[in-house]
Amino acid sequence: MPLLANHLSVAPGPHISAGKRARTFPQCSNPRCASGWLQLWRKRRVPVVEGGWLCSPECTRARMEDLLGREQAGVGPVGTYRHRVPVGLVLLTRGWIKHEHLRDALEAQRNGCGMRLGEWLVANRGLDETRLAHALGLQWSCPVFSLDKHGGGPPVTSVPRLLSEGFGFVPLRRAASGIIYLAFEDRIDHSLTLAIERVTGMRVESGLLPASEFRAAQERHRHCRFARARVIEAGSLSLLAEAFAKHIEKQKPTESRMARVRGLFWLRMWRAAGTEEDVIGSVVRFS
Ligand SMILES: [Zn+2]
Repeated sequence: MPLLANHLSVAPGPHISAGKRARTFPQCSNPRCASGWLQLWRKRRVPVVEGGWLCSPECTRARMEDLLGREQAGVGPVGTYRHRVPVGLVLLTRGWIKHEHLRDALEAQRNGCGMRLGEWLVANRGLDETRLAHALGLQWSCPVFSLDKHGGGPPVTSVPRLLSEGFGFVPLRRAASGIIYLAFEDRIDHSLTLAIERVTGMRVESGLLPASEFRAAQERHRHCRFARARVIEAGSLSLLAEAFAKHIEKQKPTESRMARVRGLFWLRMWRAAGTEEDVIGSVVRFS
């Protein structure tokens, strides 16, 4: 068999767009790739980043630069928390607290109690924590979960522990439909749920959990086994791209995806052996 035909028979798939007529040669997904036809002769089928094959370490680095630039530019500050009905008012209008309770809680906050309003009311005025969770759910227009209903089944380990512990949420369950139920304690971070959807490719449904159930779920989650995760700190976005590219070249993922989670860049790699690895990167100013 001619060498060219032999090579093409094992050419990687993801770079071939299904919507177009199949190309007869592999195409590097770095838009500035300068390698051209020479790459045809390489026996290099990985890495793949966001569905696109990369022909050389130089192209992997260039692609990482593009993706980090995209994430840096595309994600603004997390949510806007203004213009929400104050939770105290929700509790009051539902008749779940009295006027004087709200007054006492606000005074405690003015005096620097260091607690959130609802938390103080639960601790000091006997407010039921499930009612507080429902008031927060009304405030944020999101569902309230319960461990009984949403906490069963095998643990969800598709989100790195570093993110769930760092940002205060718990993946509760993965439903048979593929939906991941993600619990927050007092407010939903939609930029975070979107990042998880983009990286894992799964749909995420977010809700609140009453405080004690949230802590129980956190504790259970803490003892799960997770995919290997590395943390990288770099002095600039360009250096971070270089570090990410090195990992990709080493791990040779058959697919990988990246999203920004607040100030962190989360890269997930899937390898041919069926294993996954996460790299969490950040840009820090070394002084
Ligand atoms: Zn290339």
